[in-house]
Amino acid sequence: MSRPRIATVWLDGCSGCHMSFLDLDERLLDLAARADLVYSPIVDAKEYPEGVDVCLVEGAVSTTDDLHKIRLVRERTATLVSFGDCAVTANVPSMRNPIGPRPLLERAYVENVDLHPGIPTEVVPALLAQSAPVHRIVPVDVFLPGCPPSADVIFETLLRLLGADAPPERPLRFG
Ligand code: SF4
Repeated sequence: MSRPRIATVWLDGCSGCHMSFLDLDERLLDLAARADLVYSPIVDAKEYPEGVDVCLVEGAVSTTDDLHKIRLVRERTATLVSFGDCAVTANVPSMRNPIGPRPLLERAYVENVDLHPGIPTEVVPALLAQSAPVHRIVPVDVFLPGCPPSADVIFETLLRLLGADAPPERPLRFG
């Protein structure tokens, strides 16, 4: 029987949720004994693969790149977990929503810059009009709130998802 394939994805978040994932410490070895981590900021895979069983998604959907990535992740993932408050509610990234992208970019790239001010038109992905929670863009199977969720809650969630004989009733909420 093939081993479960898990992934983690980093959208518009501070990486604190991934830091909490790393706080699993020696329990990462328990996880490695049960499943293969096939895509994550902490592994070298460059492209999100097909056939992922469980994916933890950190961060809100804030840019055109985030939008493209979350749609691909949804297409290729059986159980998508909204991982942390930025994914669940848009949290910190949504603080810019009342301001709108243009004044924000002016402030960051023009008003506060002494050397070569100018809003980038290449490399930096375009901001969407609003920063959105993941479930507003694609269906989410499991909500894992917290800023960040604790390592204990992350571990328990993954064990339950990997150990379940049948798909969980959806949506689930932990924490
Ligand atoms: Fe950072 Fe909190 Fe957002 Fe996680 S939920 S990415 S820890 S701000």
